[in-house]
Amino acid sequence: MNILVINSGSSSLKYQFFDMDNNKVLAKGNCERIGIDGVITHKKDGKEDYKKEADLKGHDEAIQLVLDLLMDKEYGVISSLDEIDAVGHRIAHGGEKLRQSSIIGDEELKYLESIQMIAPLHVPPAIKGIVACKKLMDVPQVGVFDTSFYSTMEDYAYIYPLPYDLYEKHQIRRYGFHGTSHRYVASRAAKMLGKDMKDLKIVTCHLGNGSSITAVNQGKAVDTSMGFMPNDGILMGTRCGAVDPSVLMYLINSLGMDPKEVEDIINKKSGLLGVTGVSSDARDVREAAENGDARARLAEKILVHGIKKFIGSYAAEMNGLDVVVFTAGLGENSAILREWVCTDMDFLGIQMDNDKNANSPRGQEIDVSAADSKVKVLVIPTNEEYMIALDTAELAAQDK
Ligand code: AMP
Repeated sequence: MNILVINSGSSSLKYQFFDMDNNKVLAKGNCERIGIDGVITHKKDGKEDYKKEADLKGHDEAIQLVLDLLMDKEYGVISSLDEIDAVGHRIAHGGEKLRQSSIIGDEELKYLESIQMIAPLHVPPAIKGIVACKKLMDVPQVGVFDTSFYSTMEDYAYIYPLPYDLYEKHQIRRYGFHGTSHRYVASRAAKMLGKDMKDLKIVTCHLGNGSSITAVNQGKAVDTSMGFMPNDGILMGTRCGAVDPSVLMYLINSLGMDPKEVEDIINKKSGLLGVTGVSSDARDVREAAENGDARARLAEKILVHGIKKFIGSYAAEMNGLDVVVFTAGLGENSAILREWVCTDMDFLGIQMDNDKNANSPRGQEIDVSAADSKVKVLVIPTNEEYMIALDTAELAAQDK
């Protein structure tokens, strides 16, 4: 079975084309600057990158170009659209109703349109991607939602202590994000340890530009650091994570800021960038800290402090801890961050093999815990696209 996985952003569209029978990515690429001018980068396994400027007025044109390239004589991997069995779409938000990966029919599309308000940056481009694919292909379009992994959370973990009306009338609650990544690495962790997820208490740390931490008890997500929108929990590249909500009211009521300005601050001007004034990229921050920049070092300490707090509180919630997983840009690549997080955590049973951690090869699944560590510390490269392809293949097979 061949599956095309699409991740639509407002001006970009990433894709991967999977041969599921042989567990292979045959081609992948990225359309950028959609709606501005347009450029596509396409990579076929075993061939040099293909990069071309193209007139990408919208997502329709981008999808058409992707399909043309997949069928191209030189850079293509199929000879006709019949060789695509289904399309999987990454959708950041499934709202209250779309709680698991689903085939997107008219009803689901209508529901997604109705929740655009609560994920204005992410849901509208996903809808555009789905509509464009439906126009061009007559195969199942599957939505895989970042929020659906959290459908198992108990109400006391997702209801905010606000007037209950706000939940009932406006669906204001903790949803959680990066669920596809957390689900993937938690299942890989169990495989790596040769255990069933049902026998494990896992904390998964997805640390990238956007970051979230999730508690997975007996295979089910029981809590997560991101909330109503993808801005809660720990400090991120440009997002603040958790702050006392009174601070935002103070900015508006006492400092006279416009709500839009405040939104801009918490999403685009905070986090590593806000604290350091240097960069939102952890590598730049590390370099600045090494060169003696005190605020860069402070930002790193805030991040480590936040991650430790979540690991500790989630261990308490689950009444124990068996595994900590690090994933995404920082989690996979920053050995020093992993070491800081795991230092002085022996009371919880976390002991890292610092040498193994520092010398761990990039892009591989690796156990970096000390031989006698009660809690396993694992580095697992995330693969959301593969998880989406798996769900899509399963639903498409059921649909036949
Ligand atoms: P992501 O959003 O998953 O792509 O992660 C982006 C973050 O990962 C940025 O803060 C990068 O600085 C960080 N990152 C990527 N590669 C490395 C690396 N080799 N060492 C340290 N941090 C890295």
